[in-house]
Amino acid sequence: MTEIDRMLAANREWMAHFPGDLPVAPVRGVAVVACMDSRLPLFGMLGLGMGDAHVIRNAGGVVTDDTLRSLAISQHLLGTRAIVLVHHTDCGLQKASDEEFADLVESRTGHRPPWAARAFIDVDADVRESMRAIAAAPYLLSDEVRGTVYDVASGLLREVV
Ligand SMILES: [Zn+2]
Repeated sequence: MTEIDRMLAANREWMAHFPGDLPVAPVRGVAVVACMDSRLPLFGMLGLGMGDAHVIRNAGGVVTDDTLRSLAISQHLLGTRAIVLVHHTDCGLQKASDEEFADLVESRTGHRPPWAARAFIDVDADVRESMRAIAAAPYLLSDEVRGTVYDVASGLLREVV
């Protein structure tokens, strides 16, 4: 049994508690942009329930072109206006530079990726960079954009000001 087999089996349990049909537009009008880190239980740590918010995740929670695409859809088609960024301590993107990561991929596959990993050292600076990228995107209509750092050792979510 693979991990995915276990997930498919777990879904039968889930169905027993399925809450039913929800509206497609997030009822709290919020989009969360977060790192994919497995230690960030976003719904629990932010007090969110099903149907409350959009969650856009990638390595680092960085604002890429595809993040902006998702945010534009979230705002223009589904009515969100607030964005919260969730980066965190001990991120995988702090483990190697962009150059080292590209070298690693190339050494293993023979192909050098055309995109940067977007590695960083200072997590607060990285949150500010993401906030700048959102502010610079001319096709968003955000009423509120705030950045945070989640401490994976304590569970504390700290706002970056
Ligand atoms: Zn991370």
